[in-house]
Amino acid sequence: MAFFMHFCGAMEKIIITIDGWSSCGKSTLAKQLARELHYVYIDSGAMYRAITLHFLRNHVDWTNAEAVGHALEEIRLEFVTNHKNGQTEMWLNGENVEYVIRDLVIAEKVSEVAAIRAVREFAVSRQQEMGKKKGIVMDGRDIGTVVFPHAELKIFMTADEEVRVQRRFRELYEKNPNVTLEEVKHNLSMRDYIDSHREVSPLRKAEDAIVLDNSHISMKEQLEIAKKWVKEILG
Ligand code: C5P
Repeated sequence: MAFFMHFCGAMEKIIITIDGWSSCGKSTLAKQLARELHYVYIDSGAMYRAITLHFLRNHVDWTNAEAVGHALEEIRLEFVTNHKNGQTEMWLNGENVEYVIRDLVIAEKVSEVAAIRAVREFAVSRQQEMGKKKGIVMDGRDIGTVVFPHAELKIFMTADEEVRVQRRFRELYEKNPNVTLEEVKHNLSMRDYIDSHREVSPLRKAEDAIVLDNSHISMKEQLEIAKKWVKEILG
C-alpha cells in the first residue's frame, strides 16, 4: 500500500467514476479507492437523497415544474468531513442529514425525484464543479456518461440481484428491524427500473467503462482489481 500511495501520489491526478445498479457496493469501492489515493470521495446519490428529503419535508409537489424550481433555490448541499471517523457526510441547509437520507422512506421516492430534469441539472452542475481539480472518485448512475464523460477511469459495477438485496437488507435491518426482505427487494428493482428507463441521463454503462462484477469476490479483492486499473492508467 505504501508503494501504491507513493506511486500514485507523485502522478497527475485523475477522475474515477463508479456507476452501476443499486446496492452493488459502489460506495464501498469508491471510499476504499479515495482513501488509498488521497482523493476526494463524492457520493452523488446522497445529493439526490437530500433533495428528496427536502421535497418531502416541505410537501413540494415535484410534478409541478415551478414548485420544483422554487424548492431547488432553497437548497444548499455540502459534503462535510466528520473528523471522528474521517467520512464525508451530506449536509442539507446546515443540517447533517447523512443518517436520515439512508431511510427506506427516502429510497422509495428518490428515483422519481432524480428523474426530473431540473433536479439533475442542479446536481450535475455541482458535481462537475467538485471535479474541476480532479483527484476525485465519484459514484452514481450517470457519472461516467454525463457528469464526467472524459474521466480517465470509468468503472461500471454490477452484482447478482440476490446478493445486492441481501447486502442492502443487512444494512437497513441494523437501523430498523421491522424492514422486510421483500420490501428491500421491491425497492431495489423499482429504483433500478426507473433509473435505467428515465428520459434524462438513464443509468447505462459508458462505452469506455470497465465492468466489475463483485458477486463472488471480497471487498479486498475488488480493491486490488481497481488499484491495478489505476496503476495501468497512471503508469
Ligand atoms: O447511490 P444511491 O443508491 O444512494 O442513489 C439513490 C438514488 O439516487 C438512485 O436510485 C438514483 O435514483 C439516484 N441517483 C441518480 N444519479 C446519480 C446518483 C444517484 O439518479 N448519479
